[in-house]
Amino acid sequence: MAVFSHADFADHEGVYFAHDPESNLRAIIAVHSTVRGPAAGGTRFWRYESDEAALTDALRLSKAMSYKNAAADLPLGGGKAVLIYPEGEFDRVSLFEAYGRAIDRLGGTYITAEDVGVSPEDMDIIHSQTKYVAGLSAGEAASGDPSPVTAEGVFRGLKAGVKHIWGNDDLSGKTVAVQGLGHVGYALCEKLHAAGAKLFVADINDEVLERAKMSLNATVVDIHDIHAQEVDVFCPCALGGALSAQTIPEIKAKLIAGAANNQLASPEVMPLLEKNGITYLPDYVLNAGGIINVAAEVSGKYSLEWVEQKLVGLEATISEILKVSEGEGVTTLQVANRIAEERLKRG
Ligand code: NAD
Repeated sequence: MAVFSHADFADHEGVYFAHDPESNLRAIIAVHSTVRGPAAGGTRFWRYESDEAALTDALRLSKAMSYKNAAADLPLGGGKAVLIYPEGEFDRVSLFEAYGRAIDRLGGTYITAEDVGVSPEDMDIIHSQTKYVAGLSAGEAASGDPSPVTAEGVFRGLKAGVKHIWGNDDLSGKTVAVQGLGHVGYALCEKLHAAGAKLFVADINDEVLERAKMSLNATVVDIHDIHAQEVDVFCPCALGGALSAQTIPEIKAKLIAGAANNQLASPEVMPLLEKNGITYLPDYVLNAGGIINVAAEVSGKYSLEWVEQKLVGLEATISEILKVSEGEGVTTLQVANRIAEERLKRG
């Protein structure tokens, strides 16, 4: 399996393979950069079709964490780990204990948190073996569920986008389509509703739709049509890939501001957004509230004031990205990447 010549190897500082035959642990911990601090990023527990696919995921996700953490101006580098879901029977506690020991052996180079397929209970098991874990539910510095902070960051960035386009950040009378009413999406809807926006929502979960209809006066629309609503703002808050060559021509919103990771189906669709006059707020900048919350825990002393200061910074970064993008005629994604790359170089 190619590592150094892998297409997604991006000068990673280290790629660690952990194996424990007793528990069936097979993990890849990719450390992209520790220039700004310990490499931080979640652990993904997933069924991969091959070891190569797992490595590709770890390499790409860890680089993305370097960019996200740098754009949020956090004292953290970028890393990510993937655990290959074992074939057949396995003991989850033994597996996560072995994984915790593997993280511990790295001595703080990598700090983990939750990602897809991993629960707070799994984090507690990891914590029984190492201190290099964040996003815990209990303990002195525990930061708990990051979703409310993610929603707050998206809300503030969205308002900066509204101000850029419409001249002020007043949301009363604005129409907003929200795709996905999960932990982040629903909290975002509550904020938008409180600010006077009219909501259009879609989800695959009827219960949450009913709640949004009753409590937030939201209009429920089909999941296949949510992106195509006649609205001012579209917020992808479900899975990745909402912005594709198929969906973009149907989008009528002027602003895209959502929490979902990897909203662009591929980087090649970015010019299509430009061509259609749609302003896109880069996902990894906008949804950094969660990692900001985790960073507060990593510092050892969770502080609401520190989180608030970083959220103010997030909003300022979004405003700066919009200003530079307009001034220089380059895409918002290009500006965001440039900010992150400059900070990664500087350390
Ligand atoms: P979640 O699982 O709580 O919510 C996702 C919601 O999307 C669910 O309600 C689900 O039913 C719905 N959904 C799934 N498929 C859908 C479809 N085709 N159409 C409409 N709705 C659909 O997840 P979350 O924690 O709210 O995260 C949402 C997104 O934001 C994810 O992409 C996640 O990676 C990203 N994100 C989350 C955080 C965080 O703090 N939770 C931080 C950064 C990024």
